[in-house]
Amino acid sequence: MTSTILIRGAKVLGGEPQDVLIEGETIARVGTGIEAEGATVVDARGAILLPGLVDLHTHLREPGREDSETVLTGTKAAAVGGFTAVHAMANTFPVADTAGVVEQVWRLGRESGYCDVQPVGAVTVGLEGKQLAELGAMHESAAGVRVFSDDGKCVDDAVIMRRALEYVKAFDGVVAQHAQEPRLTEGAQMNEGVVSAELGLGGWPAVAEESIIARDVLLAAHVGSRVHICHLSTAGSVEIVRWAKSKGWDVTAEVTPHHLLLTDELVRSYNPVYKVNPPLRTEADVLALREALADGTIDCVATDHAPHPHEDKDCEWSAAAMGMVGLETALSVVQHTMVDTGLLDWAQVADRMSFRPAAIGRLEGHGRPVAAGEPANLVLVDPAYRGVVDPAGFASRSRNTPYEGRELPGRVTHTFLRGRATVVDGKLA
Ligand SMILES: [Zn+2]
Repeated sequence: MTSTILIRGAKVLGGEPQDVLIEGETIARVGTGIEAEGATVVDARGAILLPGLVDLHTHLREPGREDSETVLTGTKAAAVGGFTAVHAMANTFPVADTAGVVEQVWRLGRESGYCDVQPVGAVTVGLEGKQLAELGAMHESAAGVRVFSDDGKCVDDAVIMRRALEYVKAFDGVVAQHAQEPRLTEGAQMNEGVVSAELGLGGWPAVAEESIIARDVLLAAHVGSRVHICHLSTAGSVEIVRWAKSKGWDVTAEVTPHHLLLTDELVRSYNPVYKVNPPLRTEADVLALREALADGTIDCVATDHAPHPHEDKDCEWSAAAMGMVGLETALSVVQHTMVDTGLLDWAQVADRMSFRPAAIGRLEGHGRPVAAGEPANLVLVDPAYRGVVDPAGFASRSRNTPYEGRELPGRVTHTFLRGRATVVDGKLA
């Protein structure tokens, strides 16, 4: 039986209130005064309707670290955050460097039913940076991998990076680089600057990120291939990406919500919840990143959702794992830093969190306009909501959020995956 849902009075992409009729898996009509007998009606007056969000950078941890997250719990967290598709990073155990592993992750995602999972394939065998993984086999597998990344580690060998860029060009794939020069970041614990000097913690210089980005945009231009830069964190990185785009090179970039809000001043607390890779930077970097996301130099927001179990974070700073969960708070942080500050409107949020990440990943069925005939992958947001972040209520298996106790605006009230409500009134359906 086909279900019919009538979303009434939602501001589509922040515009005038409209009704949206969903029949089965598809948007049937968008307009005003739509009536549909027998439909489930969702009163969405005051809410913003966006296309389902797409994340280019999620760590789901399965296989191998199911104590921090599984595909099921991670996709539940994604749905709560308004996502209908996530790209699952390859740094699992075993590493997603073969057709077998990416197919396993892809299948687990389909079985979850909460959010589509598009596996990212490793660039090199075991993420060791020495030998190219079976990129073609992963692309040709049922998972249809198009994004390749050694994320967590940098592909620091220029010859390997060049070969990967050449290889993926054949099937319009993209290499997503975690830009971190390994020698310049040996023993690094936080951003290199005034705060690291005062605290006596090993510094992580901006140039360690920027030098790799500079090299890789040049390599991508030389090869005529696509490169995507993960989690930009410095003002200098923004300048390099801006320059590469001005040349017409096929370079895209993402920024995380936490790099749009938090600074290295927080490390003074020695609370490992603020330990993340790349590290939290300075206020000047945060402002440059916001401006770059607003003007389109940075294409999209990506969460870098990095769940860790309590015991890996609740220890002294130097021993703690790097990373933060992010799926369930991403849209609120973007509203807080970009919308409520007047830097982006909701149509641009749809662009940076749905259209563009889907386009970069060449993902079908997501990042589509809210229009008749399109798949009903949608999210309703209440922008007037104000709430304090309480990780105890997270759908994620992990709790390592830097926003605990912080008031953030906005709440996802409904998420629809191909017409099925995965979230209703802010709760998993
Ligand atoms: Zn990374």
